[in-house]
Amino acid sequence: MLNLVLFGPPGAGKGTQSEKLIEKYNLVHISTGDLFRAHIKGQTELGQQVSQLIADGNLVPDSITIAMLEEEIKRNPDATGFIFDGFPRTVAQAESLDKFLTDNNTAITGVIALDVNEEELTQRIAKRQEITGRADDAADKLKKRIEEYFGKTIHVLPYYESQGKLSKVNGIGDIETIFAELTAVIDAY
Ligand code: AMP
Repeated sequence: MLNLVLFGPPGAGKGTQSEKLIEKYNLVHISTGDLFRAHIKGQTELGQQVSQLIADGNLVPDSITIAMLEEEIKRNPDATGFIFDGFPRTVAQAESLDKFLTDNNTAITGVIALDVNEEELTQRIAKRQEITGRADDAADKLKKRIEEYFGKTIHVLPYYESQGKLSKVNGIGDIETIFAELTAVIDAY
């Protein structure tokens, strides 16, 4: 199996690149942010539990996020691989994912971090908000999300680096150039 983590701050281009990568490598895309948004839209119990946290730019507790992710993996028993987008965001999530994959006789193949500076992120998200109207893309919420990223999520990188699984790709430039760099990393696995 090819199991990738696409890593990066909000607005790094994880969603855009994931869509292209799943097509090329025939993978299942699991975006925890998209899953939460679908629950909120569908007004499920889970959606109601997490909507305020997400609207405020806070992370959803690990227990809820991990259970939802494992459920989604189980829903795809025939997958030949996954792209995890927006997960793991804490070291506890990374550890549970490793354990879950090991229990299912597979593992993370590699983690690719998209490198984008804060100024570019802020500009991109301001544009995205005009298009999608995502409440958590508003400037004050975004600030909180970037804080969560640099406060908690960034610590996931050394976790994978110590396993020799981390690669970094410059996330600034045109979509095709970044995609080519990503595929070069993946093809070398
Ligand atoms: P995203 O679309 O990946 O930016 O996620 C949107 C929001 O969903 C985040 O700001 C968090 O509130 C929540 N979220 C998504 N993935 C996770 C995760 N792995 N752990 C905790 N919260 C998450």
